[in-house]
Amino acid sequence: MKRTGNITTYSNGRVRYGPDMKILIVGAGIAGLTLCGLLEQRGFQPTLIERAPEFGDVGYVIVVWPSGSRILKGLGLYELLEDRGCAFTDYKISNYKGKFINSYTIDPVVEKYGPIISIYRPDLIDILKKVVSENSIRMDTTVVSLQDTKDGVETVFSDGSKGTYDIVIGCDGIKSAIRKDVFGDMPLRYSGMSGWGFWVNPDLCSSEGIIEYWGKGKFLGMWPTRGRLAVFTSVKRKSGVQDSVDTRIESIRKTFAEFGGVVPEILHGLGDPRDIYYDEYNDFSMNSWSCGRVVLVGDSVHAILPNAGAGVSMAMESAAVLAEELCRTDSVNFSHAFWQYESRRKARVNKVQNQSRIMGKFIYTESGILSSVRDYLVRVYSSRQLFRYWDSMLKDPL
Ligand SMILES: Cc1cc2nc3c(=O)[nH]c(=O)nc-3n(C[C@H](O)[C@H](O)[C@H](O)COP(=O)(O)OP(=O)(O)OC[C@H]3O[C@@H](n4cnc5c(N)ncnc54)[C@H](O)[C@@H]3O)c2cc1C
Repeated sequence: MKRTGNITTYSNGRVRYGPDMKILIVGAGIAGLTLCGLLEQRGFQPTLIERAPEFGDVGYVIVVWPSGSRILKGLGLYELLEDRGCAFTDYKISNYKGKFINSYTIDPVVEKYGPIISIYRPDLIDILKKVVSENSIRMDTTVVSLQDTKDGVETVFSDGSKGTYDIVIGCDGIKSAIRKDVFGDMPLRYSGMSGWGFWVNPDLCSSEGIIEYWGKGKFLGMWPTRGRLAVFTSVKRKSGVQDSVDTRIESIRKTFAEFGGVVPEILHGLGDPRDIYYDEYNDFSMNSWSCGRVVLVGDSVHAILPNAGAGVSMAMESAAVLAEELCRTDSVNFSHAFWQYESRRKARVNKVQNQSRIMGKFIYTESGILSSVRDYLVRVYSSRQLFRYWDSMLKDPL
């Protein structure tokens, strides 16, 4: 096979006129790598830039819904996800004292759609990298300036180099610099919850399921993946409260002091506070997902609260839809492809985003009476009802 410009000549003499678009993708996270892999699969030769000098080992456990797994199947990566991830079997909820409230099987979801898989984030990044050619990625690079002109987006990079692209795709996460540059400053929507994430001894969790402790305005969940166990916590807090490394362990112990079950053991075993991640839980949505030659994908345009475990799958789904639409356009009529992409994705993303907000309000209720009512509702909520919830989340066409 020989490629000259947008013309590919195969060994049997067949000639294929490939996509003529010059594409820049900013951010090699989940959305950026997925999109780059899908575009390469379709004959594009995008450039992907990443701010970090190397991929490293930052991140905890992320969840891939069956709708996200479908995208990995299309990329020929699903077996790797199965090998390196861990399929959830069940979901258990206790009150803050550790008293069992209910447990759910997710077998019916698995039967209809396939497994829900947890994976160490750097492992998923490593898997996605396998479908992106090495010379497409430029690490340690950001955009210094973008200028949308009639001939393309004139781009200056942090290493001083320049390029002109037909389209630029911002996959640079919830604090997207591309969004800020093109759409201006847009505030994130704070959920009222903040939290810590950290690793604990995997022996603390005997099952391959999620175990959660629900308190009053406080939450602690244990998320296992292959050979690892992550703990995510949430607590009601005003935005802007500082979380200093020096007092971090003390704050976590104080916040969850009244929790029972295995929580005292978790608190006792807390290690280096610098290895504990803290953030405010925000989400974000926009009326318009593109402007001129620039379009956004993933958290940069539709960040979702972490309680739904949906961010990764929504980012991969959006990348897949945009890749499809870009195959059906060219460097002249791309605006219509952007519109198609946005129209196909918006309702689904809004639905998942709203669901995660409702779920957050329900889980994090602060009032004593309301949390007792909540615990009662969880007790009577059945696996069948949980299946209906998952069905509504997974059945939408892309
Ligand atoms: C380091 C890291 C660790 C994470 N850990 C977890 C976790 O443990 N659990 C969880 O549920 N979610 C985690 N997330 C969030 C999760 O990956 C995303 O919510 C989800 O995958 C959506 O993907 P995304 O590609 O839109 O955004 P992200 O996965 O956030 O990717 C954005 C990418 O863009 C890069 N970038 C940002 N700004 C620029 C710039 N100006 N120029 C070039 N590149 C830029 C970032 O370095 C990153 O690689 C993490 C995100 C990151 C960046």
